[in-house]
Amino acid sequence: MTFSTLGLSTGLLRAVADQGYTEPTPIQQQAIPVVLQGQDLLASAQTGTGKTASFTLPLLQRLSTTPGQGRRIPRALILTPTRELAAQVGDSVSTYGKYLPLKTAMVYGGVKIGPQFKQLRQGVDILIATPGRLLDHVQQRTVDLSGVEILVLDECDRMLDMGFIHDIRKILGCLPADRQTLMFSATFSKPIQQLAATFLNSPTHIEVAPRNTTAERVEQVVHPVDRHRKRELLSHMIGFHGWEQVLVFTRTKHGANRLAEQLAMDGLKTAAIHGNKTQAARAKALKDFKQGRVRVLVATDVASRGIDIDQLPYVVNFELPNVAEDYVHRIGRTGRAGHEGRAISLISDDELHLLGKIERLLKQPLDRDIVPGYEPSFALRTPPGPGRDAKPNRRSGRRPSRGGAQLASASPPQRRRQELPQRRVQSA
Ligand code: AMP
Repeated sequence: MTFSTLGLSTGLLRAVADQGYTEPTPIQQQAIPVVLQGQDLLASAQTGTGKTASFTLPLLQRLSTTPGQGRRIPRALILTPTRELAAQVGDSVSTYGKYLPLKTAMVYGGVKIGPQFKQLRQGVDILIATPGRLLDHVQQRTVDLSGVEILVLDECDRMLDMGFIHDIRKILGCLPADRQTLMFSATFSKPIQQLAATFLNSPTHIEVAPRNTTAERVEQVVHPVDRHRKRELLSHMIGFHGWEQVLVFTRTKHGANRLAEQLAMDGLKTAAIHGNKTQAARAKALKDFKQGRVRVLVATDVASRGIDIDQLPYVVNFELPNVAEDYVHRIGRTGRAGHEGRAISLISDDELHLLGKIERLLKQPLDRDIVPGYEPSFALRTPPGPGRDAKPNRRSGRRPSRGGAQLASASPPQRRRQELPQRRVQSA
């Protein structure tokens, strides 16, 4: 299948060809015809599947082939949970729409509102927004949503997790009832289904597997270690193996800052991104990380949404997430595009229950490797199972044991290449 058989116009085909895409991804193959026909859509697709183009391309086509009402108020509204994702979607709209005469604006928090007023006044066809800042504009009557023909709710599960449900309901109250609505979500939880039942009109339902469940694999390993020695172990592993481009997850903003400072003191070029950083600071950190000027990027789950780095080699869970699905989101950042990726989790005593939740979600136990010199003082309460005992890790390098008994080296640990949970592909 090609993009032209999907019925896209010449300007869009040119823009897609400029990007070097030769074949539509599965979500694009399924979603583009549905959106072009004007139907509502409920799609389950994670970042990395090509989902952004799957709604952006047909949305641009619909707007460019049907006349607006004359007034330049938004005809399409795309809601995203974070500013990073809004900025990325904005980039995609500009990239794919470069041969079309449509105007795009972005409104999100963390930046001054003044320039956004000006942009909105100048006329907009496509508005990309985070819910909170958009509501500010609605309340100040600086945006008119009465002309919205197409609404996209991107990463809907995230928006619910972040508590945007009331904002979303208020925003939807400002939109015409007669519109096309496209909902994208990585998961199909009960709340998502309820939301879909309220907001969507006889939607087509598409579900695709995350990109890295198909060909690419992620090598996952768990290192049990005492909490107070995690930072030291992380610095040691980065230095010992010469890892470059390491994305490290912490649970809190404060934790991200503290870890970034400590790693910097260990001599590692490190930056942190989280919700308290300005948009400019986040963008700079991400750029430095992508270009290799920063070796370690410490991020919280929320701030990391929208980070899309092809060939990211290492993801480290400095702390496990409270929600098991977030683990899948986190490690899905690595092992892309045919490259091997490694996901490393440092687990302390108080996180064993979270590890259990993740293993239940993955339907598979993860290998526990004890790094010599970093033996935990706690017993592994969740035994890995027969033949899967925790073993010292030869590849982690030897350091003098600090107090704890050095475990006898066994055979190299059986590392497990594991597929992420596979979703069935179905249309309804
Ligand atoms: P997304 O899932 O929208 O975050 O897209 C993930 C990545 O896939 C982005 O870097 C896109 O540029 C890229 N991409 C989207 N569609 C295609 C395609 N048909 N062929 C190759 N790459 C694509």
